[in-house]
Amino acid sequence: MKFHMQILIALGLGLKRNWHIFAGLVFGILVGIWMHHHPHDILMNTLTFVGQVFIRLIQMVVIPLVISAIVIGITSVGDSNQIGKLGTKMILYYGIITLAAVSIGAGLALTMNPGLGASHYINADIAGDIQAHVASTIETQRGNLLNIILGFIPKNPLSSIASGDMVPIIVFALMFSIALAKVGEINRPFVSFFESVFAATMKITDWIMSFAAPGVFALTAVAVSSFGVDIFASISKYLGVLIIGFAIQLFVVYPIFLKIFSKVPVLMLYAAIAEAMMVAFGTASSSATLPLTIACCEKRGISHKISSFVLPLGATLNMDGTAMLQTVAVIFLAQAYGVALTPFLIVQIALLAIVASSTCAGIPGAGLITIALVLNGMGLSPEQLVAGFAFLFTIERITDMMRTLLNVTSDAVVCAAIADNENEINYDLLNNPEEYGDIIN
Ligand code: ASP
Repeated sequence: MKFHMQILIALGLGLKRNWHIFAGLVFGILVGIWMHHHPHDILMNTLTFVGQVFIRLIQMVVIPLVISAIVIGITSVGDSNQIGKLGTKMILYYGIITLAAVSIGAGLALTMNPGLGASHYINADIAGDIQAHVASTIETQRGNLLNIILGFIPKNPLSSIASGDMVPIIVFALMFSIALAKVGEINRPFVSFFESVFAATMKITDWIMSFAAPGVFALTAVAVSSFGVDIFASISKYLGVLIIGFAIQLFVVYPIFLKIFSKVPVLMLYAAIAEAMMVAFGTASSSATLPLTIACCEKRGISHKISSFVLPLGATLNMDGTAMLQTVAVIFLAQAYGVALTPFLIVQIALLAIVASSTCAGIPGAGLITIALVLNGMGLSPEQLVAGFAFLFTIERITDMMRTLLNVTSDAVVCAAIADNENEINYDLLNNPEEYGDIIN
């Protein structure tokens, strides 16, 4: 069969397979718009409840899944040289994709100037204070990075697990797994234990996914009802920059990346992870989507060895969509408050956005919180910029849904590229969507 025919079939099957989640998403938007104009408490409370049930169910399996996936992934790679090689390649690939995201975000924001239109909402005196503040502190703010790095090392792994701090959990799981790989055969009981944990959490994920359509419907309806469509008009330029940036990342950067670094056909990959993309959009949480991202990759041809290593780390550390949003948002704020955007400041914003996004948890809203780190680098805090932030918050949820879709897609893109490089992809399966196993029963 011709390749383009296979791709068309893949996309068709992707939609057919997931029509109920897609329908949930579309109905969610329509019901949300209706509820914005006809507020209805009981309906709103019911939908909020249904959405929360869905999110909590998937969050429930994340920690056992991440730990067991890392243990199995690393012990199956075994030799520490190979782990080092894979880890280095993963960081390099994630880094390239995130660097592209912040560069595109900065380029678009500087040419389209979304913040200039918002400046007349900002009090001129406050703007003057902000400008002076940025100028005086930009040179002295340097210490933050060291504190962030300290926070990555868990003092007590069990308390990190109890409070759900993903980065310290991952640091511990990585060190522990590398040690397990080093001690040889004696690790068998422990590894078998985690193999069982992993299999059981994947089974639970299957069950939860049968609830994906109502879950995505409810979450989308609640999100859309809180802002309606009219808000888009007042902040359309900012949203426009983001939509263009996200689209470039999804339709230009990832395909080029896959072309340069692998022979993975991008549309086949998108067809294979379609469920994960939609659930990422609906839940606005990469961590909550992780079980599904792993299931999509593994059931459609990417080896367990690579996906169980690369995806959990990606869901926590690789946030290219978030990094792009943070870059655009901070440039927007700088423009709105009349802060001079020198080349040095722009580079600083972009680099801090890379750090801030990777410290950000894969949960809804985290990106707009860790943006404080980028602002700290300029000597500012979100409190000083409330008027500007109010703008960003009006459309926070929808931008969160979009950036999470990117965060999750790029995890799968990097995972597929590494699997290709390591000969760990079953192309007969990936390129044959008719053979795909069902994820949602
Ligand atoms: N919601 C995003 C995620 O889970 C993080 C963010 O707020 O940008 O990937």
